[in-house]
Amino acid sequence: VGSGVKNIKPGDMVTSEEMLWCGTCDACRYGYVNHCVRLNDPSDTEFGELGFTHDGAMAEYVVVRERYVWKIDAIREAVSSDEKAFEAGSLVEPTSVSYHAMFNRAGGFKPGAYVVIWGAGPIGLAAIALAKAAGAGKVIAFEISPVRKELAKVMGADYVFDPIELEKKGVEPWERIMDVTSGEGADMHVEAAGAPHVIVPQMLKSLAVGAKIVQIGRAPKEVPMYLEILQVRRVQVFGSQGHSGWGTFKNVIRLMASGKINMTKIITSRFKLSEALEAFERGHKRIDGKITIKP
Ligand SMILES: [Zn+2]
Repeated sequence: VGSGVKNIKPGDMVTSEEMLWCGTCDACRYGYVNHCVRLNDPSDTEFGELGFTHDGAMAEYVVVRERYVWKIDAIREAVSSDEKAFEAGSLVEPTSVSYHAMFNRAGGFKPGAYVVIWGAGPIGLAAIALAKAAGAGKVIAFEISPVRKELAKVMGADYVFDPIELEKKGVEPWERIMDVTSGEGADMHVEAAGAPHVIVPQMLKSLAVGAKIVQIGRAPKEVPMYLEILQVRRVQVFGSQGHSGWGTFKNVIRLMASGKINMTKIITSRFKLSEALEAFERGHKRIDGKITIKP
């Protein structure tokens, strides 16, 4: 801990934001730290992204500024070991990505609302847990991986559908959404699969009046979108990037400490730092919820 640090002392258990935002560019000064103009330049040694432009946390030690660090002592008090607290702490960032998208960018949904999560990777699984914790009336998930389909249920999805299985039966995903919402459609759609070119057309056929579309997944393809549906159904589309700012890390830590969400259930493989390459090889197989590497 450096001498200029005010709020962290040696021995504190912490987790860190991944975006090393500068705080002085226009985007940061407007409060949009997830859109800091200094995030993407690998030659910028001061600011950027941990694990992208800067060496990441696959090391025994990593140095970050105090401003990106959040204490996880509330989680530690709620779980039985340091190990479990650190595992939860490692999942604050991906959970915050979903939180930021659904609740900061899109402004959330009302308790009782029907929420559809497309894709049940770590971000989609976090979105499912958050939707449940925030009082969604029904949480409906779409996923093709057997492991992730099971995890979607564990995290709180009321319905989990496999688009490939549906296709074999000649059923489109939007039809299932309309079935389980009694024809009313979804109040919030969260795209966490990175395949909006196939998912957005399904969303457009299953929108409640006043629905919100939240785009988290990243995809290089253009998306066909019939805008008149947005007018007729009074729909808004929100693009979201990042996890920093807005008190999001603190709120996610509080949700974990309260037991209202338990993201550690999505960890299906654990590797030592010395086994990191194996972890990446396993990651390519897409057979896990989340893989964790521990120093
Ligand atoms: Zn900035």
